[in-house]
Amino acid sequence: MTDCIFCRIARAEVKAKIIHSDDEIVAFHDINPEAPTHVLVIPRKHIPSISDCTPEDFPILARLLETCAKIAEQESIRESGYRLVLNAGRDAGQVVNHIHFHILGGRKMSWPPG
Ligand code: AMP
Ligand code: ZN
Repeated sequence: MTDCIFCRIARAEVKAKIIHSDDEIVAFHDINPEAPTHVLVIPRKHIPSISDCTPEDFPILARLLETCAKIAEQESIRESGYRLVLNAGRDAGQVVNHIHFHILGGRKMSWPPG
């Protein structure tokens, strides 16, 4: 999608602090971090949300999760723990309509989330 901010980051048209990039997935630091470590992990493919995924997207979902775990290790939060968040739709507060996992870590998380 031409005007999607995350598609533009994936195409390197918009700057971001990228920490992982491969042929299918890009990960970068959130511009407005909610924790000492706050990374977003996206597919290069424009999928608006988890609700829009079809079986053909299952392999990329698995790769996204695998990449999240690898990044948690790289960012040294594997041992201390971290939270993966995937917001979907208005009530969850999804503001960017390009599917993304948040990796949050480096501090104690509360539960339930607000
Ligand atoms: P969500 O509410 O799940 O849609 O989260 C979108 C996230 O994207 C928010 O945490 C924003 O701070 C983050 N964000 C928006 N624009 C950018 C950007 N240009 N670079 C990095 N993170 C961004
Ligand atoms: Zn997009």
